[in-house]
Amino acid sequence: MANVNDRVCIIGGGPAGISAAMYLQKKGYTDYVIYEKLNKVGGKSYSPKIEVNGQERTYETGAIMGAITYHAVHEVEEFAGVTHADGPDMRRMYRDKTGKEIFPFDITKDPSIKKTRDLLKLKSQMKKLVKIMNTKYAGYDCYGHIGVAQGRYNGLSKETDRPLQRMQGVNPNLKDLALPFDEFCKLNGVEEVMKIWIGPYTSFGYGFFDEIPAAYVMKYLDTTTAIEFINMRLWTWKEGTQSIYEKANKKLDHPAVLNTEVVKVERPAEGQEGKIKVTIRNAEGESVEEFDKLIVTTPLDWFANYADAREEEKELFAKIIHEKYVDFIATFEEDAGPTISGYIFDNMDFHRLGHAMVYYHRWEDLDDNCPCTVYALRNHMGSDDVPYNYTINTMVKDMKRCGFPVKERLYEQETYYCPHVSPTDYADGWYDKLDAMQGKQGTYYAGEIYSFGDMEDTCAASKDIVERFF
Ligand SMILES: Cc1cc2nc3c(=O)[nH]c(=O)nc-3n(C[C@H](O)[C@H](O)[C@H](O)COP(=O)(O)OP(=O)(O)OC[C@H]3O[C@@H](n4cnc5c(N)ncnc54)[C@H](O)[C@@H]3O)c2cc1C
Repeated sequence: MANVNDRVCIIGGGPAGISAAMYLQKKGYTDYVIYEKLNKVGGKSYSPKIEVNGQERTYETGAIMGAITYHAVHEVEEFAGVTHADGPDMRRMYRDKTGKEIFPFDITKDPSIKKTRDLLKLKSQMKKLVKIMNTKYAGYDCYGHIGVAQGRYNGLSKETDRPLQRMQGVNPNLKDLALPFDEFCKLNGVEEVMKIWIGPYTSFGYGFFDEIPAAYVMKYLDTTTAIEFINMRLWTWKEGTQSIYEKANKKLDHPAVLNTEVVKVERPAEGQEGKIKVTIRNAEGESVEEFDKLIVTTPLDWFANYADAREEEKELFAKIIHEKYVDFIATFEEDAGPTISGYIFDNMDFHRLGHAMVYYHRWEDLDDNCPCTVYALRNHMGSDDVPYNYTINTMVKDMKRCGFPVKERLYEQETYYCPHVSPTDYADGWYDKLDAMQGKQGTYYAGEIYSFGDMEDTCAASKDIVERFF
């Protein structure tokens, strides 16, 4: 039962946690607490400042960009007083695995009959995909996955003409979205489109098309968002994506409690009244706080380890898979760095696990002296993981092959990335089982798994949960 006087605990101060607090506050909740284990908010939207040639600028270690379909992020921006109008332009080129520049989509560089045919085929399949998504798969374009495995939809709309409005309905064709994306494309005769979708999907660490249900691909890269990517009409933030959540956090009546990790959760038994006891750990040691409700925005498979998880929670959360996405920010030998971002298409194949798939050049005016972020995946379902150190060394060699000798790695990380479930578990109704558990023992599950691992889907998930249950 919704009660604005309830005391609500939010675990995690990333985009999902900060937006959950914002939506609660907008709804009239006055007593909420966000616990964040690190000394900063923003989670994987982390934009450290680095000084180059006497100029301090923000760089991105995690989230970089958004698009016109970032409706929930835009609500956070407006709350925070932040704009995406001031961010650096996105610019890109393409390379093959030897580092040579290629022009896969440019007919002027290769006006052969084969190339013309290939590009015309790609264009017509793109058109076909747009059409079938809006007709055969009508209803796909909402956040979250409730009902999809049963041929239904129920979520906030991602469509630009009715953003964030609830849409619900029945469409048995939606069941196809449980198929791996490559099978989904084959079923619909649009295999060529994978050549486009792979750029903003696999290179951004979201996995390979033979292992990821089409639902994740098409809900994130819906046809509008994909077209914005193709045309490079993307949002970026001068102060970095982290600034959205830092500034929103400052506007909250109760900003996140930093350096405070949730280490234990004890809930009243199912169906029983009582408080949720949350044990927190900070520099002063451990203490217990009491709450009426809990919003978990952090990985649910981790939650199962520190909370008093029921068997059904343990079983469901054990099915979550995450990507192992590695990135580093590097400087290059003097005047020998990239001058524009690059996509290395050959490396977006699981046979090339651990190779650099993309690098991000953020500040055009810093030219070839701009530090860049370089990205690789080191896991694929059915393949052995590539060791972390091997991946880092391979990425460095790949940059050298492109003509960019790395001088120093200023920052590097591997993130728990893009939690999702397998095509089999998706088809088996994993999301409906999750939804059926929402609210049990005062617990609500939000964050990346709810819809998708990007800023927009996590903020929209928070809105959806607050709207439905609070
Ligand atoms: C390399 C990279 C590139 C990306 N590019 C983009 C992009 O261009 N566009 C885009 O939209 N998205 C992008 N993303 C994804 C985006 O950053 C994430 O999907 C988003 O940050 C998820 O928000 P979240 O709040 O659900 O989780 P997180 O950002 O992971 O935040 C979770 C927070 O919870 C905290 N926490 C964890 N456990 C506990 C605990 N027990 N107690 C207290 N606190 C805890 C963590 O410290 C963290 O701050 C990218 C991510 C990465 C890593």
